[in-house]
Amino acid sequence: MEPPRTVTTPTPLITGLTPRLAYKADGDEAVTLVVAAAATALVAASAGESAAVRRRRRRVVFMTVHYMTPGVMMVSGMRFLVFLLSVSPLFAQPKYDLLLKGGHVIDPKNKIGDVRDVAIRDGLIAAVERDIPAVEARRTVNAAGLFVTPGLIDLHAHVFSGTEGVGLAGGDSSIHPDAFALRVGVTTVVDAGSSGRRNFAHFKKTVIDRARTRVLVLLNIGGAGMPGDAHEQDVSDMDAKAAADLAIANRDTIVGIKVAHYRGPDWTPVERGVEAGTLANIPVMIDFGEFRPERPFQELVLRKLRPGDIYTHAFYVPVPMLDEKGKLLPYLFEARKRGVLFDVGHGGAAFEFRQAAPAVKQGFPPDSISTDVHSGSLNAGMKDQLNVMSKFLNMGMTLDDVIYRSTWNPARIIHREQIGHLSVGAIADIAVLRVEKGQFAYVDSWGARMDGGQRLTAELTVASGRVVYDLNGRTRDSWDRLGKYQAQGDASWDGSRGGGRPKAIGGPK
Ligand SMILES: [Zn+2]
Repeated sequence: MEPPRTVTTPTPLITGLTPRLAYKADGDEAVTLVVAAAATALVAASAGESAAVRRRRRRVVFMTVHYMTPGVMMVSGMRFLVFLLSVSPLFAQPKYDLLLKGGHVIDPKNKIGDVRDVAIRDGLIAAVERDIPAVEARRTVNAAGLFVTPGLIDLHAHVFSGTEGVGLAGGDSSIHPDAFALRVGVTTVVDAGSSGRRNFAHFKKTVIDRARTRVLVLLNIGGAGMPGDAHEQDVSDMDAKAAADLAIANRDTIVGIKVAHYRGPDWTPVERGVEAGTLANIPVMIDFGEFRPERPFQELVLRKLRPGDIYTHAFYVPVPMLDEKGKLLPYLFEARKRGVLFDVGHGGAAFEFRQAAPAVKQGFPPDSISTDVHSGSLNAGMKDQLNVMSKFLNMGMTLDDVIYRSTWNPARIIHREQIGHLSVGAIADIAVLRVEKGQFAYVDSWGARMDGGQRLTAELTVASGRVVYDLNGRTRDSWDRLGKYQAQGDASWDGSRGGGRPKAIGGPK
């Protein structure tokens, strides 16, 4: 399919002075733009504006002239210019910055599963309607045949990457979020315990406050996060009050508490985590560590955890899930009924088809689908969020359900209902996905394969209203129609050159 033939002004160098108009490459609209810019400069000069302003406006004209054809050069005469400016309806401001046209929208919160156009303005969803004319947008993307969903939320990731720390806590086991998230439609990641109260500030300064991906945090109950086994066994550094205080002071970023990797026979880490979660009124996510008879898993999910708390690594083989006949154990449904949530957290060891496939088949899907990305899982069975989602699609879940458990449900689990949906007025975090049909296969954490006929891939990712990933250049014009082109794109919709930060979403809702 052919992308729409439009171009935009070369750079957004002077917002407000640059004519904010999307126009066709080969038509009289292009003339209108050039003419309008020139007229603006001339009118400004005659109105006695300062020399500096005139210089800036001349630059606008100069930049615009790159698009002029010889025919356009013939156009002159100020009265004619002003006349054109006054009569051209095309000079009206486009209503939208970006329009995704003709895609199949899956927006579980708003119960939409149908073809819709989605328009974006100022980083927000401006309209979701059956037909929004392309002329109303600066840039239109043909999304026919694709699925348009809220930006994906990865509830379990490790993104505290760096060189000063160790392991997952500021070391090279964590992965910088922008390096793996945006390219698969993920616009928000929740770091699951890589940092604790002693290194959260460093994490925030070096990664969270710089990334293009939105990063939220489950703060480790251990003071140093996840620098390695010795620290993670140190119960004396698990201070519930101090963790809760830090969470309360950083409500915009810290969405919960993480307890992980404990090998001891006691419940101390779980109890401290739940205490911190209660003090700060936030959920706790448990990675149960070593499964030991002294502290049965059933007791964790039936008694220790509160409604709204999360057990991650739901399909890890040590979880008691199936009886000898392969039937799901009834206590799991009891735990779910209590409000305990089950997250995937695929990772390097914690997702096995022999648990997941029967569970899904027997009506026990995960509440949230997540990666547990780190250097050990990234290139092994896990790969990325879409690969994990594809596994569930091929195990028999519907696409709508897979999207629900990767967008709106994780948003609710962390009490950030500002994201995970495409409501008008919401932050425009969007994934445009393709469902490929063919012969594919998937690998679990223990190296077993599952064949499948479907695979999800990302075509386009929009984060806070800007295109940050565009696999097939759907927002782009063909080079051979652009002449001597300058840098393409327009800051109103183009985020591909980096630097943009996700819109803040604030605290719990
Ligand atoms: Zn993890």
